[in-house]
Amino acid sequence: ANQLEIKNLYASIEGGEAILKGVNLVVPKGQVHAIMGPNGAGKSTLGKIIAGDPSYTVEKGEILVDGENILEMEPDERARKGLFLAFQYPVEVPGVTNANFLRLALQAKKGEEVGVMEFYGKLQKALEVLEWDESILTRYLNDGFSGGEKKRNEILQLMVLEPTYAIMDETDSGLDIDALKVVAKGVNAMRGPGFGALVITHYQRLLNYIVPDVVHVMVDGRIVTSGGPELALKLEAEGYEWVKELAVAGS
Ligand code: ADP
Ligand code: MG
Ligand code: MG
Repeated sequence: ANQLEIKNLYASIEGGEAILKGVNLVVPKGQVHAIMGPNGAGKSTLGKIIAGDPSYTVEKGEILVDGENILEMEPDERARKGLFLAFQYPVEVPGVTNANFLRLALQAKKGEEVGVMEFYGKLQKALEVLEWDESILTRYLNDGFSGGEKKRNEILQLMVLEPTYAIMDETDSGLDIDALKVVAKGVNAMRGPGFGALVITHYQRLLNYIVPDVVHVMVDGRIVTSGGPELALKLEAEGYEWVKELAVAGS
């Protein structure tokens, strides 16, 4: 099973009310899927649960990476299984340069030393695609990065770590159109038979540049409909009311 599969997932905030109410979703390796949906639908919660955020309780269901349930795994173990969560490293790490952090993250993922030459080779290629200069490498991780730099740096991490499945949440927030195009270029450079991605976004704009194979719509903790890229355009034109009605009809 070469896919990321979410199976009948129910989850709540620790000690609180239900947020995910039976999410079913399959992202085959080699495809890019988008999740759209109104504010509060549970999109970010799904991303954080895939990342292993301990503030949520999973009541039921499974998350399978190539057939293996990852729900009991620590976040670093999930990374070794090939998952990349763009928002997993949002912290500022004073005293650790961006390059050192990336090399450590790559070694942690591979479980072995990564040679300097190999590492810099990957970096060079990624920086070229992202139209970024090397000065970003010697800065401390996220320290004083602008919102756009943080997002671009997430894509640099993605390109260096070369995960099997990437989950990206609100990759477009705070980006001007040029930065958005560069970020999309990075994600598109990753596309291929060995890579799958789940792109979570409230707005259709990002999907003009990262054209998804499948669009899923989440409302009130469930996927209520799925379709091709045209579904994103329909949502942009018509809003979310009609899918909210689908959610009510289906519950
Ligand atoms: P989306 O990303 O689709 O906008 P979220 O996953 O952020 O939705 O939120 C889904 C629902 O869960 C919202 O009603 C939100 O208030 C609630 N929620 C999410 N995370 C928390 C949290 N840490 N504490 C309390 N409520 C939360
Ligand atoms: Mg939200
Ligand atoms: Mg969100």
